[in-house]
Amino acid sequence: MTKKLYYENPYLTNWTTTVTKTIEKDNFYFVTLKETAFYPEGGGQPSDSGLIDTIRVLDVFQKDGEVYHKLPHPLEKETVECQIDWELRYDHMQQHTGQHLLSAICIDEYDAHTSSFHLGKDNVTIDLSVPEFSDEQLKHIENQVNKEIFANRDINTYFVTKEQAGTLPLRKMPEVEGNEIRIVEIDGIDTSACAGTHVSRTGELGIMKLLKTEKSKGNTRVSFIFGGRALKDYQTTHTILTSLATQHSTNREGLAEKIAKIEIENKHYQKEIEELKEKLNQFLAQELIQTHEGSIISKSFEDKSLKELQGIAKQIHEATNQCVIFTTTHENKLLISHSGSFPVQCGQLFKQELKSYNGKGGGNNTTAQAAFSNSKDMEAFRDFLETTVRESL
Ligand SMILES: [Zn+2]
Repeated sequence: MTKKLYYENPYLTNWTTTVTKTIEKDNFYFVTLKETAFYPEGGGQPSDSGLIDTIRVLDVFQKDGEVYHKLPHPLEKETVECQIDWELRYDHMQQHTGQHLLSAICIDEYDAHTSSFHLGKDNVTIDLSVPEFSDEQLKHIENQVNKEIFANRDINTYFVTKEQAGTLPLRKMPEVEGNEIRIVEIDGIDTSACAGTHVSRTGELGIMKLLKTEKSKGNTRVSFIFGGRALKDYQTTHTILTSLATQHSTNREGLAEKIAKIEIENKHYQKEIEELKEKLNQFLAQELIQTHEGSIISKSFEDKSLKELQGIAKQIHEATNQCVIFTTTHENKLLISHSGSFPVQCGQLFKQELKSYNGKGGGNNTTAQAAFSNSKDMEAFRDFLETTVRESL
């Protein structure tokens, strides 16, 4: 059976050992070692990574008490040098130990029990047995957890028998095979059964930040970060906020007010733009009427939206009886409309013919619009409409 060095010393990163077994399967090599500090996946903590000699460990898992190391290549020697990816492992230790502390504080403060724990590359969450938390409660949890980090309490791990475990203040009795139970104890705060790897003092957790809460089947899912992840998050947030503040010639405290002011200004500009566009469309409508003598005003625009085309058409119909056929290459959309003086039933015509021009759309008797995936189809349909309208008279 593999000797599990991660239980004796979770800080061990390098060791020399011998290979006890190699199984080849599907071009991978599953190796067992006499001793290993590679932690296999379990208890919500992901497996370790690292090197055995120079070969990358792809996965680590436990089966029948043996720890298997999945390798892409076979090992050439019987005696091997092992090295843990310490940055990854220490991150797991910080998030995992942190979860013990956070879960304990949630029980003590709000009788909120942890039903599941997820430790992922991008996010860490626990599900708590309460429907919701107020902002004030979340702040309180955050403060209490950080208070216990700063108190730098001892964290001890040890094995006990099932009988001995019965005398400990465990939150929940674990279901384990055999008679040994591994205990992790945060001095004065929490005693839990756990097989993971933990830091030895709460101070190593650095700092904790709650990120968000979500409702999840009557429970509350809480996202959080400890230690290195919290530092990275603070560095990123600080860089973004400082850069935004510089851009807006203010400091971080003044940023919210500055952005609120910009939003108000933007709304004002938007309104002004709408009014100016309306005026411009009036001029455009006049110009189109003056330059088109026939029964149809057909025009292709490059930069107008369908909504703007409808606005221009409305202006034209207020002044003349001409039929309007507009296209916009900006959106590949087409509009036809008339004031009722043409026998063309726009909606019905689109329903019958649009499909053969690969367009989608519809409308009523006097107006219809269509969208196309390319301008070629749109132009062909426009030509068809022009001919149809002319022949209808
Ligand atoms: Zn644990």
